Amino acid sequence: MGSKYEGLAVGIDLGTTYSCVAVWQEQHCRVEIIHNDQGNNTTPSVVAFTDNQRLIGDAAKNQAAANAENTVFDAKRLIGRKYSDPIIQKDKMMWPFKVVSGVNDKPMIVVNYKGQEKHLSAEEVSSMVLTKMRDIAEAYLETSVKNAVVTVPAYFNDSQRKATIDAGTIAGLNVLRIINEPTAAAIAYGLDRRINCVGERNIFVFDLGGGTFDVSLLTIKDKVFQVKATAGNTHLGGEDIDNRMVNYFVEEIKRKNKVDISGNPRALRRLRSACERAKRTLSCALTANIEIDALFQGIDFCSSITRARFDEMNMELFEECMETVKRCLTDAKMDKSSVHDIVLVGGSSRIPKVQQLLQDFFNRKDLCKSINPDEAVAYGAAVQAALLSEGVKNVPNLVLLDVTPLSLGVSTFGDIMSVVIPRNTTIPVKRTQKFVTVYDNQSSIMTEVYEGERPRASDNNLLGFYQLSGLPLAPRGHPTYDCFAIDENGILSVSTEEKITGKKNQITITNNKERLSAGEINRMILEAEIYQAEDRKFLRKAKARNSLDDYIYKMRNVLKNKYTSSKLCSQERDKLSSAITKASNLLDGDNKQDEIEVFEDYLKEFVSLYDRIMGKIG
Ligand code: ADP
Ligand code: MG
Repeated sequence: MGSKYEGLAVGIDLGTTYSCVAVWQEQHCRVEIIHNDQGNNTTPSVVAFTDNQRLIGDAAKNQAAANAENTVFDAKRLIGRKYSDPIIQKDKMMWPFKVVSGVNDKPMIVVNYKGQEKHLSAEEVSSMVLTKMRDIAEAYLETSVKNAVVTVPAYFNDSQRKATIDAGTIAGLNVLRIINEPTAAAIAYGLDRRINCVGERNIFVFDLGGGTFDVSLLTIKDKVFQVKATAGNTHLGGEDIDNRMVNYFVEEIKRKNKVDISGNPRALRRLRSACERAKRTLSCALTANIEIDALFQGIDFCSSITRARFDEMNMELFEECMETVKRCLTDAKMDKSSVHDIVLVGGSSRIPKVQQLLQDFFNRKDLCKSINPDEAVAYGAAVQAALLSEGVKNVPNLVLLDVTPLSLGVSTFGDIMSVVIPRNTTIPVKRTQKFVTVYDNQSSIMTEVYEGERPRASDNNLLGFYQLSGLPLAPRGHPTYDCFAIDENGILSVSTEEKITGKKNQITITNNKERLSAGEINRMILEAEIYQAEDRKFLRKAKARNSLDDYIYKMRNVLKNKYTSSKLCSQERDKLSSAITKASNLLDGDNKQDEIEVFEDYLKEFVSLYDRIMGKIG
């Protein structure tokens, strides 16, 4: 398994809409899903900025309607992509927050924090969510957490994976490994079933979440998990389903109330929340009601939707899911009858129509729902994290084999994509392929590395390029050798070698355009620390304010109460009254950040006065 890492390691499912953190508890020999400060096992991947603080998770989601422009979600949809990506351009229309193009066409999220405009990259926003997940784990485990295994959709490309590692680095986490979400779910499932797992089993993982859809075909045999094929859509999930419902009701409001709310972010955000709730209801009931007070221009919106109507408006999306299921089986050259188990993962896999279509496709086979679909991914990541950590006992000895999600190759003469590592090849992997020069006496060659499935190289995603010069004089057809190596994280290095001269050049696809530079990462780490310090300062001040408020209340009661008040002399009563007035003024005033000490000093003074007086009253 290679070298192991010191210190506690957790598994983090960094979801588009919800994130989840889990840890292997060696004393109990099982994975524990860690609940957040609200008692929830999943935490919204949402970050919000206000005039005086930054909020992450439930607190951010809960204030979204009132502060839609500065509440950022869906960072995972942006991560590792370019601003001009048509997917981003389309998404942008639905987001209440602003996204602009930054350096090198990098999408930047614009928010207003403490009265100032801030530009944040998707990595920074994701790092904030990861920080929250780490805080949740640290609060529960009562120790610091440095290491994590983070999951990504199987279809994430190289730059999206690296951007996710960068997000971890900014959050101060050591990302031990990036693993595919369906693989993680399969680990969870494999553990669950390990007792009665006989022979080889083919497992189909169906993960329909909030923003992404992944399917994977895996085999488990003798503790070895092998991903045979993956397919998916990085832009299909619960939010698209919510969007359809939002559009449906926007039209209904236009018809019924003769108003168009589509330009009002606050109204849309409130409608979206109501739609998401209704959608969840429809997973267990046949109709759901929507009621929103004063939605727009004083209109109280009240309506309902049936499951049949809901299914109909989303049928296209559901059918797209089934097409992806078929494609994955075709890729794996496996007939659906050979699938032993179908595992449901992701919150949207609870939708009855989705389950029905899937079950019908697999000839009415039972779907496996024994694992909580919200937690399976983090569960598997926690097992992987324990396996990579030094000295962790009682971890089941699994061997995990994963595959590359996209074909990797180089552009050859005529813009042809020459694949060196086909997609769905098990990783880590190293492959060498011979290429030849195209001109007589060609002295240099340019290697352009691409990922993708299109036959024309330039239609695929260019990962990087480099030149090898000083080739020996030779007629065309002189051989050079390209070596492609992918490590456990799915990260690629490529080299080109000419044997006669021994000349070699190579790249590790690390700093392609979309990736953050070391300098930028350092700056973001510093900024992350500043954010955290500000969060802490805010909390400290809020606590001091609350305590002061509490003591004012208690002191007022001392004065109001005839018995306690009679025990004090008039001088003491005056002293108390003036202390109360001073404290109340302090609370009512317009307080700047730097006044924490003033609050705390005054609180101390106030508490000692209270204690003295209470001591006297007895
Ligand atoms: P991700 O991993 O993409 O963040 P999750 O797997 O956590 O997503 O799933 C979140 C999505 O699942 C959200 O869109 C949410 O609305 C949806 N969801 C959660 N519970 C249900 C349910 N009971 N019925 C339908 N959709 C649900
Ligand atoms: Mg998920």
